[in-house]
Amino acid sequence: MHELRAQIFSALGAEQEFAPGSPPSSTSAPEVQLPVQAESANRSIQKTSCFTLTNQPPHSRDGSNTQAYRGKMKQIYPDLWQTRAEHPFAGVTSHAYLLVRETGNILFYNSGIREEYEHIEALGGVAFQFLSHMDEVGPSLAEIKSRFGSKLCCHRLEESAVKKVTLVDCLFDIRELRLGNIEIIPTPGHTAGSVCFYVNSPFGKSYLFTGDTIYLNNHVWDVRINRYGGGSKSDLRNSLIILQDLAPTVVISSASIGDTPFKEVSADDWRSDIAKVLDTLA
Ligand SMILES: [Zn+2]
Repeated sequence: MHELRAQIFSALGAEQEFAPGSPPSSTSAPEVQLPVQAESANRSIQKTSCFTLTNQPPHSRDGSNTQAYRGKMKQIYPDLWQTRAEHPFAGVTSHAYLLVRETGNILFYNSGIREEYEHIEALGGVAFQFLSHMDEVGPSLAEIKSRFGSKLCCHRLEESAVKKVTLVDCLFDIRELRLGNIEIIPTPGHTAGSVCFYVNSPFGKSYLFTGDTIYLNNHVWDVRINRYGGGSKSDLRNSLIILQDLAPTVVISSASIGDTPFKEVSADDWRSDIAKVLDTLA
């Protein structure tokens, strides 16, 4: 599972990726469009078959009160559950996150922890699986789609990597709202088609799912460029500047190093932390 990520973390050290004299990528950041208002986004979503809001059968939002599951996920916020840690490469940890919504749950990233699928089912299953980039590709993508009947979505530039495992149902391309309150934010740099997802939870937090665009390296925000996936330093800088203008209260990466896979942040700390990372890319 997560073969590509394993390759990247094993084959590409930070020293290589940021080697002085590396030619800048010719890939330029795509034009970013401002998010549309939620109401108008909802209207357009109804016309798009891939993103039609689905009605899930009634289910327990807790998903843990009726039976014991072989594998049980961890509830980290009222509407957000974390899968068990996977280690695609020594020292690297990854998780997936299930956002439980009345209109259809969204699984961010990917999980090969099959023991937890029963628990996911009890939480309402998966309506959509959103990948942040190609390093999350693994055999479980096909299994999740088959088991839950979910739609698999990724950026247009990552599709060729994903469809080696299974068909992609819907593509991201521009910055926009999908499914009512999920903001898709293209953030090229780690890979050409990396995206982040920003969600205002009705329970009060605002989640920023950053994929590997920016991740926690022993509690400190860090970046890594996957040149195999079309990443570039100049694109990454532009993307971090976009993320710097957001005000998330929780930032959740896909992979991480150390024992902290996500972190609560203040607006000031987030801006300051991004500035420090930008300095490393100067
Ligand atoms: Zn990655």
